[in-house]
Amino acid sequence: MESVKHTSTATLAQGKAPDVEVAIIGTGFAGLGMAIRLKQSGQTSFVLLERESEVGGTWRDNHYPGAACDVPSHLYSFSFAPNPDWSRKYPTQPELYDYLRRVANDHGLYPFIRFNETLESARFDEESGLWEVKSTGGVLTARSVVMASGGLAEPKLPDIPGVENFQGKTFHSARWDHDYDLAGKRVAVIGSGASAIQLVPEIARQAGQLDVYQRTPNWIIPRQDRAYLGAEKQLFRKLPLARQLHRAAIYWGHESRVMGLVLNPKLMTVFQKLAEWHIRRQVKDATLRERVTPDYTIGCRRILISNDWYPALQQPNVELVTEGIREIRANSIVTADGQEREIDVLVFATGFYATENPIAEVVSGRNGETLAHAWRDGEEAYLGTLVNGFPNLFFIIGPNTGLGHTSMIFMIESQVEYIARLLALRERRGAGLIEVRPEVQQRYNDRLQKRLGNSIWATGCDSWYKHRNGKITALWPGFTFEFRLRTSRFNPGDYQLG
Ligand code: NAP
Repeated sequence: MESVKHTSTATLAQGKAPDVEVAIIGTGFAGLGMAIRLKQSGQTSFVLLERESEVGGTWRDNHYPGAACDVPSHLYSFSFAPNPDWSRKYPTQPELYDYLRRVANDHGLYPFIRFNETLESARFDEESGLWEVKSTGGVLTARSVVMASGGLAEPKLPDIPGVENFQGKTFHSARWDHDYDLAGKRVAVIGSGASAIQLVPEIARQAGQLDVYQRTPNWIIPRQDRAYLGAEKQLFRKLPLARQLHRAAIYWGHESRVMGLVLNPKLMTVFQKLAEWHIRRQVKDATLRERVTPDYTIGCRRILISNDWYPALQQPNVELVTEGIREIRANSIVTADGQEREIDVLVFATGFYATENPIAEVVSGRNGETLAHAWRDGEEAYLGTLVNGFPNLFFIIGPNTGLGHTSMIFMIESQVEYIARLLALRERRGAGLIEVRPEVQQRYNDRLQKRLGNSIWATGCDSWYKHRNGKITALWPGFTFEFRLRTSRFNPGDYQLG
């Protein structure tokens, strides 16, 4: 393991010692993974800034009824912190949240975390070569900043006319209010994405009336979930190799989907047939079948998994509304056909700022340029991690690192290791700054966009994978092992060190 500990060389190069070597923003999988890697290499001069009062990122925030992960638990976890006791194939939100708190505790990270501190600004100071990080808790200087604030962390509300006039109870799927009793209430859910398909079946059991507003149907395949047997857990505990083989089998099974998503979209036909069969089997009414059937090739948007979404839509107290929303009033929603449906509660299952994340507005690099400005035509980075003009700033789950087919934790671990190597390279060279060369970043993105142009995501659908100008900025267009290789065998000549 390479050391990323900074000695006085780096300090001498810039002349001024920072308050901490590394400031990490966020304590989800990415932030915790980075902090653990720093500690392992002997670096203890770091802080994690966390806007909430506990660790966990998306798995702390998304606790809506039915919240679970659609990537299997043995793969959706750190390779260095295995859990032989996962209760089921697909982990539920409480189980993942527990896992992350346990990992943070086991690795002694809590003393490094400043809770309830929201990032207000991160500004690169050319003179000192340091970052000035301002949060609601104060200001600190850091040599490096790791943005581990999450790709899907900032809830997005729909810009529907009149939305601000609604007088009833509202909440976003990522800000669920469990104290509010939905029993017998007239509830509207806007959205039919990954969050909606999990929460709708749950709240259909409580609500008096539930209107589900679907703008675009998604392809959904069966969820083949099951509980792990006691004997399996025991085997995983006693024989780590068995657990590792199980993890590897899941990894390669998921990785094979890349063939259809990136190499040859025609290969997705088998998934489309499965999804069509799922609709035929679960939806009896021909009109409803038509309304839930997408008109794009499967895989163009995220493939969802559920066994209870279609049955929920057919419950007597549930109505699927596919007419567009014209207006939201004080106590109702009006659709394009003029129909008005009265409601008490409005749930926004409307997703996140996957692109144009507001946090980019408060980060400024050389010459005071904000990230939001640098990314005005769509987010771009080098290997999802570095952006020219922003020295010593590192992203985890940065642009074009998202996945449509497997575990983000694999990408996070690749990026954590890459950042550790970059820090070590800077250290070895006795430099204070590291920054990707502009032509390297440009060439990388030109090739990336060319590949994405042939992918299934470019076959004519709208999705959160794209910037509003149509450029695909969220996804990595290949196998995840390719990303791992590219982030581990890098060329030092690609970077400016100063
Ligand atoms: P999402 O997939 O972006 O879905 C947002 C939904 O809101 C879509 O149905 C969208 O319609 C609708 N919507 C947005 N603005 C609207 C408007 N103005 N009028 C009408 N409808 C509107 O968000 P999400 O469901 O929260 O999921 C986001 C991502 O989080 C997922 O793709 C996944 O990566 C992750 N996630 C994973 C899990 C899991 O592992 N099981 C669970 C939840 C979330 P359109 O489709 O027409 O835009």
